[in-house]
Amino acid sequence: VGRNPGEVEFHQAVREVLDSVGRVIGKHPEYARAKIIERICEPERQITFRVAWQDDHGEVHINRGFRIEFNSALGPYKGGLRFHPSVYQGIVKFLGFEQVFKNALTGLPIGGGKGGSDFDPKGRSDREIMAFCQSFMTELYRHLGEYTDVPAGDIGVGSREIGYLFGQYKRITNRYESGVLTGKAEAFGGSHIRTEATGYGAAFFVREMLAARGESFDGKRVIVSGSGNVAIYTMEKVQELGGLVVACSDSDGYVVDESGIDVALVKQLKEIERGRLAEYPSRRPSGKHIAQRQVWEVPCDVAMPSATQNEITGKEAQLLVRNGCIAVGEGANMPTTPEGIGVFREAGVAFAPGKAANAGGVATSALEMQQNASRDSWSREFTEQRLEQIMVGIHARCYATAEEYGVPGDYTVGANIAGFIQVADAMLALGLV
Ligand code: NDP
Repeated sequence: VGRNPGEVEFHQAVREVLDSVGRVIGKHPEYARAKIIERICEPERQITFRVAWQDDHGEVHINRGFRIEFNSALGPYKGGLRFHPSVYQGIVKFLGFEQVFKNALTGLPIGGGKGGSDFDPKGRSDREIMAFCQSFMTELYRHLGEYTDVPAGDIGVGSREIGYLFGQYKRITNRYESGVLTGKAEAFGGSHIRTEATGYGAAFFVREMLAARGESFDGKRVIVSGSGNVAIYTMEKVQELGGLVVACSDSDGYVVDESGIDVALVKQLKEIERGRLAEYPSRRPSGKHIAQRQVWEVPCDVAMPSATQNEITGKEAQLLVRNGCIAVGEGANMPTTPEGIGVFREAGVAFAPGKAANAGGVATSALEMQQNASRDSWSREFTEQRLEQIMVGIHARCYATAEEYGVPGDYTVGANIAGFIQVADAMLALGLV
């Protein structure tokens, strides 16, 4: 804590992993001798830079850009860029740290990193977004490369932003290096299913978790927080798997629709019109918008937090348990606080931590890198099959690791330990670097 003052989200993420991996160190004294824990908590490289850009009225703005290259033991740094006014070093470091273990769990050759800016894209014109992305990439490009560091999207960064970033990278470097960014549009090297992958993957993971308890999505009431990329495709797949999604949210409140959320309408409002969820009821009268309140008050069987970190504290977790929730699948990164996780554990709620449940996005990014490297493009069906296999594999690995370490059904411990061991073994093999 003293080495990283004020970085509360980073402390929280590290504490959660260390709580789990204490069990491993006893069995593996070689990790302690090589100071793997100390090394794994220290990013390999941290980059902070100025991003100056001009808005449509000619006013100049200065934002701060970040890229934390956390760990490259398993492959090039891989992880998204977040554009949100709350972004600072502590958030980027927590996300980068989580990414290291998540990427290991996919079983694919990718290291961990994360980046972003405190730029707020809300209400900005297309031209302003492009101006910001171009300025951001004009500094970041020197640190990237398909064998070095490969960013993708996250909050506030979707395929439009990835397109502008890639365009600027290509212009500056004079290289059509497709594999330098993932989450590209399909028209220029993007993979089928990447847009859907995080949400679809989270739904597959929760399906497996429910199946391990003799349950399924069939007829279950499901609530999802957020209405962005992860939330939309989580809802789409959960409905396909037989669940009834009754509510979703954005930062202004939530919509509840007892006849089932109309996902096509949410896509239209949020992805195409870039509008607000508050407009939902005017287009679909079965929906009600509840302003300035949290979606967790809607009774459900399954909750899938898919907006941002720390959205479920002890209080919201208790509310969910009281209302009969039996399973929680994290589509977002660290949406549940340690107190919240404690409440779920105590109540026997099945809990899928983000670093396992939302790994489908980065896994499909790694599939995009494979396609770019071989100048190939796989079909939608084949790519979704690969994603599903990967999610089933991650579930099995977390489940088996939790059993092996004496905490059956604890996916948090299972995910942390399985990811940690894989990275730690690679770090040992690579020597003192
Ligand atoms: P988007 O920007 O597409 O959507 C974010 C959604 O969450 C929006 O509905 C937004 O509401 C809401 N939200 C964001 N911040 C807040 C906040 N501080 N308070 C309340 N609501 C908020 O982002 P993504 O869907 O891509 O990301 C969501 C989560 O999933 C993040 O935790 C991200 O790290 C994680 N994730 C994303 C992956 C991906 O592939 N995109 C991969 C793995 C994890 P509003 O529109 O009002 O801002």
